[in-house]
Amino acid sequence: MKFSEIKEILNRYNIRLTRSLGQNFLHDANQLEKIAANAQLSPSDQILEIGPGLGPLTELLLHSGAHVLAVEIDTRFIPILQDRFSEQPNFELRGGDGLELMKQHQDWSQWKLVANLPYSVASPILVEAALNPNCFKRMTVTLQWEVIDRIAAPVDTPEYGLLSLILQLRYKTINRFKIKSGAFFPAPEVDSGVISLERRSEELLPTELHPLFVKIVRQSFSQRRKMMKKLLKAQWDEYLLTEAFRKISLPETIRAEKVTLKQFTLLTLLLNQLTLQEIRL
Ligand code: SAM
Repeated sequence: MKFSEIKEILNRYNIRLTRSLGQNFLHDANQLEKIAANAQLSPSDQILEIGPGLGPLTELLLHSGAHVLAVEIDTRFIPILQDRFSEQPNFELRGGDGLELMKQHQDWSQWKLVANLPYSVASPILVEAALNPNCFKRMTVTLQWEVIDRIAAPVDTPEYGLLSLILQLRYKTINRFKIKSGAFFPAPEVDSGVISLERRSEELLPTELHPLFVKIVRQSFSQRRKMMKKLLKAQWDEYLLTEAFRKISLPETIRAEKVTLKQFTLLTLLLNQLTLQEIRL
């Protein structure tokens, strides 16, 4: 979909874009192709697209032969999308909030998420996906580069934190690349990019321990400059923490940003085990 086509459709339907809904439309054909390529589409895929807008990405997704469920919150785009795609049997359209739809339909394990996400809800959407044990097998999404940096951040970097660890617990970053602001209409004020995430084939922690993992990580990063053990003392007994830190050779003075994903998973297992032992005594 060319820039001139976007302008023509918006004029024809007399639509003024709504900034709060993150309406920055992608009109660069090369970037759209690159997103579709990173999603590794096949005719047997089921794809959720949150925020199809005028449908430039939808068009490519449908072209792959995959089943595409598109959910758009802005009702002004619904007739446009229907006009463009309703005759295609692999197209399904819903009006409404994509985040709510994700929460209602719980089993996404056989689906892929492919979307140029509205930036205001991009992080909540990805966190909701990663906290669901039946989450998408692959996610290829456009969002703020700053958020992509945090998702893919390695340990011991300023970007490494709660968002990195929640996403990395279930997903591996397969690829990421920047997109110039000029590829969007209107151009967003922040840098943008695409990240492709693939669900891990093996869970790093049993599902029932994921809430505890999130609780530990959240508390550990609640004040980045402080020693992690001191922060955890607000919620766990000191002697349990001493025992757990000793067992995985974590220095007492370590700060959360130096603790790897593997070490956080071990700490979760140990704190769970030691707390259960204490209850039994
Ligand atoms: N996919 C189109 C493209 O690439 O040009 C539009 C992407 S635009 C960045 C984001 C789209 O998401 C807009 O069409 C906006 O109306 C829609 N949107 C915003 N919040 C939404 C939500 N919570 N659920 C579904 N769609 C939403």
